[in-house]
Amino acid sequence: MTVSVNRELCYGSGECAFRLPSVFTTADGFGAVLPGREDTGDDPEVRDAAERCPSQAISL
Ligand code: SF4
Repeated sequence: MTVSVNRELCYGSGECAFRLPSVFTTADGFGAVLPGREDTGDDPEVRDAAERCPSQAISL
């Protein structure tokens, strides 16, 4: 399962990168998935980060 960040919803809180820096980062003021980590959507920690995103901008 893939994971992605919708920039139209993300407001750049950085919580995803703080919570799970092995998968998420921030770029240009938005949350982003690190290159090569787009296929981590099945990881429970990624699912948790998506559920905790305050703007529900992380899609699995
Ligand atoms: S937690 Fe959500 S709103 Fe905050 S940077 Fe990550 S994707 Fe954007």
